[in-house]
Amino acid sequence: MSDLELPGHHGTVIDHRPTCDCGWHADHPSETRADAESEWWRHALIANEARPPDWLLVKSDVLREQVTEMIRTRPEAALRLLAEIDTWHRPLTQHAVAAYRSTGASWTDVGNNLGITRQAAHERFRHLDT
Ligand SMILES: [Zn+2]
Repeated sequence: MSDLELPGHHGTVIDHRPTCDCGWHADHPSETRADAESEWWRHALIANEARPPDWLLVKSDVLREQVTEMIRTRPEAALRLLAEIDTWHRPLTQHAVAAYRSTGASWTDVGNNLGITRQAAHERFRHLDT
């Protein structure tokens, strides 16, 4: 029994057809079990490549918790900090969307990664397409 495991992904092969607990599955069964496992690894590695590093997600959580605490104790300072974050957050989001779009990503892809609809992503960022 082989272990098809990556963070957020657990693979299973039944009748040479790889599936993943993230909802992904191969369109067709593979020739061999090894081919099916290779296909699962391709899926999981590509999906993992899109995942932000855990250490950055932890930093993001810490920042959010500290700002939340600051809102409670020093709301004016929290507001200034959030305004500061806004000065780089918006341009970086636009930069990331433009860079992602230049790789051929669709508005659905952009929306999925931002947690918004395809339509909302298009309305918000279509001015970046030139
Ligand atoms: Zn998966």
